Amino acid sequence: MTNLNARPAKPSLSELTSCLSDYDPHAMPVKQAQAIIHDCITPVTAIEKVALRSALDRVLASDIISPINVPAHDNSAMDGYAFNAVDLLPDADTVLSVVGTAHAGRAYQGTLARGQAIRIMTGALMPDGLDTVIPQEFVNIPPGSPVDSITVPLAAVKPGANRRLAGEDLKAGSTAIGQGRILRPADLGLLASLGIAEIPVRRRLRVAFFSTGDELRSVGEVLDPGCVYDSNRYTLYGMLQRLGCDIIDMGVVGDDPQALENAFRSACENADAIITSGGVSVGDADHTKQMMAQLGDVAFWKIGMRPGRPLAFGSITSAGKQALFFGLPGNPVAVMVSFYFFARDALLQMMGAQVAPLPLMRATAAVGIRKRPGRTEYQRGILSMNEGRWTVRPTAAQGSGILRSMAEANCMIVLAHEQADVASGDAVEVILFDGLI
Ligand code: AMP
Ligand code: MG
Repeated sequence: MTNLNARPAKPSLSELTSCLSDYDPHAMPVKQAQAIIHDCITPVTAIEKVALRSALDRVLASDIISPINVPAHDNSAMDGYAFNAVDLLPDADTVLSVVGTAHAGRAYQGTLARGQAIRIMTGALMPDGLDTVIPQEFVNIPPGSPVDSITVPLAAVKPGANRRLAGEDLKAGSTAIGQGRILRPADLGLLASLGIAEIPVRRRLRVAFFSTGDELRSVGEVLDPGCVYDSNRYTLYGMLQRLGCDIIDMGVVGDDPQALENAFRSACENADAIITSGGVSVGDADHTKQMMAQLGDVAFWKIGMRPGRPLAFGSITSAGKQALFFGLPGNPVAVMVSFYFFARDALLQMMGAQVAPLPLMRATAAVGIRKRPGRTEYQRGILSMNEGRWTVRPTAAQGSGILRSMAEANCMIVLAHEQADVASGDAVEVILFDGLI
């Protein structure tokens, strides 16, 4: 990662923080914070080779160049009969004699004369000289019944039809998959189709995380009066796991400067990135700020967003090792929203992944939604199909501490910085929680 202190040409994070929102002089627009974070990131460079199956969800480290044509040879796209289109009569049905069969994986050995055809199965090699396949169902012969001739009806197929050409999927020497791709099931299949068994991927990102707060108790502990169970470590665990990070769960750290410093140093020495929750809001930030001033270059931002206004971001150094730092707010919904809209892209970028913006989908608001201009709001929504239209309504409770709103929702309604109140029936943008798999 870039050393923020070692780049005098760039302004420090605290200088960058002075860029302020039009509406709230103390808040930075989401987009601006995202852009600053984006500029601070350098991807990990180490590469490892893994077996094809283990490459699922990993970040491809270099372009994969196809060593072969796919398909390797011209072959049939259908079960039917193969022939040479020059044999077709221009103005009448054509009768061809059937002289053999080509099966997938077993090439037809004979040579064909003019006016001859062979029965051919899907995937079978097209014998030399044949260029067209008429599907089984076009010649009105029940499958399996022996035939010595077929009638190709006039204009039933075009020359070259139903033939897959060598290299039509991929040409030898062309890029099959570009580096930076997070490998999906289709990519594994594509790599297998090229006969590639070992895949170069970036090493996994190591991310340490802990929760801060004297009031936090871990699952399994007795809940003393005034205490809450630490849920952030579990949502963070889930989100980091889904990103494919190597995670270091450092537990709960109390609001004690020495304990916090020890935790930060240890995290820094063992991880590429550190994520904490809690301790960055107004009440707590001061002692965290003092410690951070010694450990690195960290800015404490107020972001023009809801939920999740406080955010600390920067880098920490300990024992010569540097780590990226995200200090997320403590409230359980705020921590998730801040993770999704700041940490997620940053971590993907560090992993070496090509990060595309999350697709937004337009849906009709089923009810009016109150919204103040000057901050981006991420309301938890329930998207459903109603009379042929995607409609969305916010979950009942939107408080930043109400984790149930995240659990009930299937999407986030993204209300842009400038947006004012939304009327029922207006179009709004949503981000879906789940994809195809
Ligand atoms: P803070 O940002 O530390 O002021 O915390 C804001 C609110 O979030 C407080 O009500 C905390 O009790 C709550 N909170 C902080 N961390 C956690 C956590 N790990 N799990 C659940 N609630 C938390
Ligand atoms: Mg706290």
